[in-house]
Formats: sequence, C-alpha cells, structure tokens
Amino acid sequence: MVKSIAVVGGGISGLSAAFYARKLCRERGLEAKLTIIEQDHRLGGKIRTLHRDGFTIEQGPDSFLARKQAALDLARDLGLEDQLTGTNPAAKTNYILHRNKLHTMPPGLMLGIPTQMWPMVKTGLLSPLGKARAALDLVLPAKRGNEDESLGGFIQRRLGKEVLEHMTEPLLAGIYAGDTAQLSLKATFPQFMEMERKHRSLILGLLASKKPSPLASASAQVQAPVQAQVQAQAQAHAQAAAAALPGPARTSMFLTFKGGLSVLVDALVKSLETESVITGAGVCSIMNKGDGYELILSDGELMTADAVVIAAPAFAAAQMLANVPEAGYLERIQYVSVANAALAFRREDVPRELNGSGFLIPRSEGRRMTAVTWTSSKWLHTAPDGSVLLRAYIGRLGDQRWTAMRPEEIIAGVSDELRDLMGITAKPIFAELARLPESMPQYPVGHPDELAKLRAKLDKTMPRVLLCGGGYDGVGIPDCIRQGRAAAEQLVTSIAGR
Ligand SMILES: Cc1cc2nc3c(=O)[nH]c(=O)nc-3n(C[C@H](O)[C@H](O)[C@H](O)COP(=O)(O)OP(=O)(O)OC[C@H]3O[C@@H](n4cnc5c(N)ncnc54)[C@H](O)[C@@H]3O)c2cc1C
Repeated sequence: MVKSIAVVGGGISGLSAAFYARKLCRERGLEAKLTIIEQDHRLGGKIRTLHRDGFTIEQGPDSFLARKQAALDLARDLGLEDQLTGTNPAAKTNYILHRNKLHTMPPGLMLGIPTQMWPMVKTGLLSPLGKARAALDLVLPAKRGNEDESLGGFIQRRLGKEVLEHMTEPLLAGIYAGDTAQLSLKATFPQFMEMERKHRSLILGLLASKKPSPLASASAQVQAPVQAQVQAQAQAHAQAAAAALPGPARTSMFLTFKGGLSVLVDALVKSLETESVITGAGVCSIMNKGDGYELILSDGELMTADAVVIAAPAFAAAQMLANVPEAGYLERIQYVSVANAALAFRREDVPRELNGSGFLIPRSEGRRMTAVTWTSSKWLHTAPDGSVLLRAYIGRLGDQRWTAMRPEEIIAGVSDELRDLMGITAKPIFAELARLPESMPQYPVGHPDELAKLRAKLDKTMPRVLLCGGGYDGVGIPDCIRQGRAAAEQLVTSIAGR
C-alpha cells in the first residue's frame, strides 16, 4: 500500500528530510507519497542568496562547518561537491571590538576559549587579573553531577567574567544572537560539559580534543574495539570526503557553494520535482485520525498522512500540537529577531586594510551592530574585482530596537557605526537589508530533558510524528540536515515495519 508522508516546513531541515525519505523509500522498494507544506511562498527557509551587480549576497547563513559531515554528505548525494568553496586563507584573522578599538582575536582560541598561553599573555582584551582568573581553569575542580546549567554561567565559573564578556560571549552569542546567561549548556555545547567531566579543565579538554593522544586511542582500542573501529571509519570517511573536494574547500573550516548557499536549496527542490509541494499555506493543526493523522492547513484545506515530519520553528509546532500538553514547552523557546545589511563599496572608498574576515562587537560596547563580516575578503567569490562587500549584523536578545525602525533608519545607523569603526565616509554603491523576524531559537536551560519528555509523549500518543530542525537539536546547517535525515530514517523504518 502507498504510504503518505507529510513534511511540514520547507527550510533546509524539511527539504533534507524529504530528500532522504524519498531516497530511502526507493532503496527499500517502498511506495510513498511525499507532500511538503511550506507556509511561505518560497522554499529554503532561512537560506536565501541574492545576486546583484556581480555580487553574491547571503541574507541568512553564509556557510557551514566542514567538520560536521551531514552537509558534505548531502552535497555529495546531490552531486554538488565540485561547486564547494572555502574561505580565503589570507583572511584568517578575526577582530573583536574592545573599548572602541579593533583587537586581533588571540590565536589559539577554540570556540572563544583560549588554548595557547603566549597569545593570552599578550592580548589587550583582558586585564592582568582577568588573565590570572582564566588560568585558574587549570586547577579548579570539576563540578559534580550532570545537571544542565547556562552556557554563560559555565564559562564564567571556569574562566572568569572577563573571558566570558570579552571573548567567548561575542563569539558564541553570535551563533545564537542570544544571551549566554540564558542558553542551555547541554543543548548548545555539550562537549564542554564532557571536557570538564573528563579533563577537569576546559582548556586541557580543548587541547586534548585538538590532538588525540596515541596512548588514549590505543587504550580506547583495547577497551572498546568496536567504538574505536567506528571512530576510525568515520575519520577515514571524513578524510576521503575532504580529499575529493575542490582545492580551496579542502582545508577550510567553513564551506559554501560558489553560487551561494541557495545552490543547495535549488538542487534539493529540483530533486523533489516529482513530489507534491504546497507553498503559501501553513499547517495549523495535526490530530490523530484512525491509524494516521489529519492536518488542517491555514487555507482551510484538510489532508491526511501516515507520518509527519514537523520541520517548522518550535512556536509553530506548539500550535500544531496544541492537543499535546507536553508541547506547551515549545512555546518557552524564545526566538530572537535579527537583521543584516549588505553594503557594496568601491575599494578606494574603504580606507582600512581588510586583512581578515571581520569583527565581533561585544554587548558591553553598546553598539547597535553585533558583528561585521568583511565578506569580499573572507569569500573571494562574492564581489567583483575592485569592490568590497561588507555585511553588518543587527539585533540580539535584549536589543530588538531595530524591529520598530524603517529600513532607511537601520541602514543609516549601520553607516554611522561603520564610519566610527572603519572610517568609511563614502556612500555605498548599494545596500540590501534582510529582516529575519523570530529567526534565532534560544534553547533554555533544561532544553534536552524537556524535548525528550515531549518526544516520549509523541511516541506514545502520536507515533510517526517527528520534530526536527533548528528549533530542536542544533541550529547549524549540518545539524539541521543531520536531523532531517535522521527523521527520514526513523519514519521510513517505522513505515516499512508496519
Ligand atoms: C542571520 C542568520 C545567520 C545564520 N548563519 C549561519 C551560518 O553561517 N551557518 C550555519 O550553519 N547556520 C547559520 N544560521 C542558522 C541556520 O541558518 C538555521 O538554523 C537553519 O537554516 C534552520 O533551518 P530549518 O529548516 O530548521 O528552519 P527554517 O529555515 O526556519 O525553515 C522552517 C520553515 O518552516 C516554515 N513554517 C513555519 N511555520 C509553518 C507552518 N505552520 N506550516 C508550514 N511551514 C511553516 C517557515 O516558513 C520556514 O520556511 C543562521 C541563521 C540566521 C537567522
């Protein structure tokens, strides 16, 4: 019998779920009818690339982490590997604003945590007391227990307030546009918890993660040969995948496509051409009906499905699952609104040497912008010769003033700050503003446990209704693809078994 699968939400998570569900059904000889339902009039969700006057402008994410395999695997499955490109190796330096001056980020920072002694001794970002406090991480005892805590609380406990405010917070908060004092450590950086548990010190844990010691891997092989074998296979897989990439992408920590990230969305959409896609109508409610589910759409249409992947934001899922009391938790996941402005300049109009990939702006600096990417230096394919592309980010938790401003006001505010910080007085060739309301989910402390409770309840009362995407188990593009793929695997296995 033909099974019907509904995928709710056509961002990268939903499209990946649909792509892998179809692939797996074909491989297992299952007949399935796939329907993607997207509330917006376009697919792709946060991923949106604009091409203008020879510039390639990302209005949402600009790249993905190469070391997280799911995105590379998908690129390979879609035959896109040869279009991948990496960051400019000559623009590796990152800057951070401190007391109105740009400082280079000390080398050796991993995820905003220091791992090299000498650059930390020299940096002007910390006072002598702040440096001494950071070093205490090496001797402080580890916290007992496995309770979740806030990301900011954890960093401050290990490395002190100055490292948190001047280094880690701007970098990590940049990923979530959030307040580290409110973000769940377990949901955002569970590896930090594990490092403290295993190595007592975060710095020592990060150092150990850089170089797997031969002794440790030998003992792992003795203790857990299967695990060691799986790890070795994964490593070999990653190495082989990296070796197959085009030159600039082989060694880069971040990757994108020469035509922008929309290349990935376009290829997914093309590969799903034969499936049914509904755009411009969202799902309002999902209810049990017989052995399957009934979906009510915002245009009044009803549809039924044997299985549903919800790949929409948490607040939308909360509404769809209003009959499930545990889904009330999803409303507690706050989404922060952010915007970004891409500004194109003639090279001679930018007085500063752009010898890096941009700068971060800590909350304490009191600026409207949160970061600026020197896009044309970081990604060489994004601007024609003789021109410069900058991207300024606005909005974070606790600073949502921009949402009440007109586009001209936002651009004027950005131009003022670029004049102050980079000395740019010329008018840009053009400016493109992208508004992303309610786009950055903030996983509260306790998030993994609350989500597990909800999933257990769904498994009992609404089996084959699965949640995946940026609102749940990781915001990065590879995390979203991994979740979409895992949801597809779970559904297809469950359908096949019925
Ligand atoms: C400005 C910005 C920069 C970022 N930079 C990076 C980066 O450089 N690298 C990186 O890895 N990640 C980055 N991220 C994070 C990453 O882009 C997102 O986490 C990811 O794209 C989310 O994908 P998704 O499919 O889960 O959600 P979305 O892209 O939000 O897709 C969900 C879809 O569901 C639809 N929907 C909502 N309600 C309904 C409903 N009721 N019915 C049907 N459909 C519905 C929405 O319209 C949307 O299309 C960034 C995010 C932002 C906002």
